[in-house]
Amino acid sequence: GRVVIPLKRHGIRRNRLPSFALKTTDQLQAAGYEAFIVGGAVRDLLLGKDPKDFDVATNATPEEVHKVFRRSRIIGRRFRLVHVLFGDEVVEVSTFRGSGESLTDEAGRIIRDNTWGSQEDDAKRRDFTVNALFYDPNREEIIDYHGGVADIEKKRMTMIGTPAVRYREDPVRMLRAVRLAAKLGLSIDADTRKPIRELASLLENVPSSRLFDEMLKLLFSGQSWACLMQLRDEGLHHGFFPLLDKMMKAPQGEAFLRNALENTDRRIREDKPVSAGYVFAALLWLEVLDNWDKRKQAGEKAMLALFSAIDEVEAVQEEKLAIPRRYGTAMKEIWTLQPRFEQRSGIKPFRLLENPRFRAGYDFLCLRASVGEVDKELADWWTTFQQADSQAREAMLVRPQ
Ligand code: ATP
Ligand code: MG
Repeated sequence: GRVVIPLKRHGIRRNRLPSFALKTTDQLQAAGYEAFIVGGAVRDLLLGKDPKDFDVATNATPEEVHKVFRRSRIIGRRFRLVHVLFGDEVVEVSTFRGSGESLTDEAGRIIRDNTWGSQEDDAKRRDFTVNALFYDPNREEIIDYHGGVADIEKKRMTMIGTPAVRYREDPVRMLRAVRLAAKLGLSIDADTRKPIRELASLLENVPSSRLFDEMLKLLFSGQSWACLMQLRDEGLHHGFFPLLDKMMKAPQGEAFLRNALENTDRRIREDKPVSAGYVFAALLWLEVLDNWDKRKQAGEKAMLALFSAIDEVEAVQEEKLAIPRRYGTAMKEIWTLQPRFEQRSGIKPFRLLENPRFRAGYDFLCLRASVGEVDKELADWWTTFQQADSQAREAMLVRPQ
């Protein structure tokens, strides 16, 4: 049933929300509609974390929402919702949705999935109780249908409804359980956790683009190493990177990946930029290295062998989860730069410094050095070389014999 949690219990004052979020709910309410902040933002506020985006749920239809906000547009075909724009900020406004059957054509394609419902229906189709809370900024009240506030207090994630049924409806919920638990420091309730191992293979049927989106969220959560370890414990990591399995089994592989992801996590927590190319380069590097070594041993020339190794690893990865070009290109450049760090004479080191991908390539070299894959001396040389003035750089060059 519908439980109203008052301010004195939850403690979230209206002024904790940014003005663009408040304007959205205020204007909808002024136009006579119901409007609430919903989902991840309410959860994060209750946990004392800064929400990264603000979603609003309302009983107004997308067309009605669009009429209230001059700067807004209706988006989405399957799930129509409205983006309301305030400068650079976007608030996603969705209409309360029911769990009713969606309309499909003979080919099984969904024609319409906008079966509107009540607020209660909307709560029920969400995944975890902690994600199904509605905050009304005017009354400073939280509406809770599934005991989400109590779960937050107990630092626990519980699936709404029957977990196995909800995972079958949408297997991505298994990944969300693990990712959100690791990111937020919550435990997964026993009944919610139990079916995951058995249903893990359902992830194979999820469209690759959705898996990739989820993987990106995981890798850039600031807790990627913890997430990955938990995915492995739940048997969920198979689908993503066919090569990850192998990698995490080798002790050297685990150390390498751990250093890479902990670097990334640290940078994210310090609000520094991170390159997706670097992260993917790290995830697949040992496989490239392995393939490259074999080719060199078979007598192929070093650089050509590296290119062939990259192509082969990419082809294997593609079968499971293709890495979109915008990340794949950077990843490959980071890899192909690696042998160039070995050349420390003549004009070559100066050219490498000018390469737009130098920084990422150098970071990657340091990562390799951190697990002893290349000499630390080489990484240190580049650290010094970068910072040196041109005279000192000249003096550092290794004279060819
Ligand atoms: P994050 O902090 O990663 O954004 P989030 O919970 O806000 O986490 P979103 O993908 O932004 O995740 O989704 C917003 C809300 O939509 C969720 O809080 C949840 O209520 C609902 N939701 C998202 N994905 C699902 C799903 N697969 N099944 C059911 N409900 C979902
Ligand atoms: Mg969100």
